[in-house]
Amino acid sequence: MTLAIWLDGSLREADSAQVSVFDHGLTVGDGVFETVKAVDGRAFALTRHLHRLAGSARGLGLPEPDLDEVRRACEAVLHANPAPLGRLRITYTGGVSPLGSDRGTAGPTLVVALVDTDRRPDTTAVVTVPWTRNERGALAGLKTTSYGENVVALARAREHGASEALFGNTVGRLCEGTGSNVFVVLDGELHTPPLASGCLAGITRQLVLDWVGAKETDLPFDVLERAEEIFLTSTTRDVQAVHRLDDRPLSGAPGPVTGEAMRIFAERAADDLDP
Ligand code: PLP
Repeated sequence: MTLAIWLDGSLREADSAQVSVFDHGLTVGDGVFETVKAVDGRAFALTRHLHRLAGSARGLGLPEPDLDEVRRACEAVLHANPAPLGRLRITYTGGVSPLGSDRGTAGPTLVVALVDTDRRPDTTAVVTVPWTRNERGALAGLKTTSYGENVVALARAREHGASEALFGNTVGRLCEGTGSNVFVVLDGELHTPPLASGCLAGITRQLVLDWVGAKETDLPFDVLERAEEIFLTSTTRDVQAVHRLDDRPLSGAPGPVTGEAMRIFAERAADDLDP
């Protein structure tokens, strides 16, 4: 199927759209991105995604993206590719630059594409990985295209029949997954790691904090071993109960707190496409 995508100012056919082999996003991962859920041709929480895109670009020292253009591009792509449910992928990079020289000379590259229709992970088993997020690193909290470490961790998860891998940070605290934030229930109370843990400021995470309520708590990584319930949040998963952590089954998942969070999130999200 030929999809229409947005590339640098206009809609084009995905099959024939071209980005330079010297694009800094390709050569050194100098780019930022967003994944946005689309329901019936409308982007969910688009304003929040645009602001996060701009924040990530700023953090990476990229030129400020023109958010009006990005919004127009999202609308144009959704209009050209009707689907009941899908995900928009916005990619914004440093642009073309001869190898070895500094950042782009011909301005940044913007691509917006509908990457797939509804594709939720096939399992909610999760593993822990020994690698750490660097909460004090230059990229902490930025959604950059340098996702290599997440790719490696996700491959480890797949080897163990899981769909997500959870990281601690360099000081042994719970952080996040490769593409999701994590919530745990302890003594009946809902907690999630604070942004200082190095996790991404997930949009679904924030909506759960706003709509359901949870404590942002600095937690040891091994809290996962005694959590009564665990759930993940992301644009792709919404609120999703974890049924197995490493070898430990979380029987009865979703438990009562997770079930309530899932219910509230689904209800509020259906009411308000741009919360
Ligand atoms: N953490 C990481 C590393 C992510 O890549 C993502 C989403 O892509 C999330 C958390 C969840 O963020 P959101 O709820 O905005 O999708």
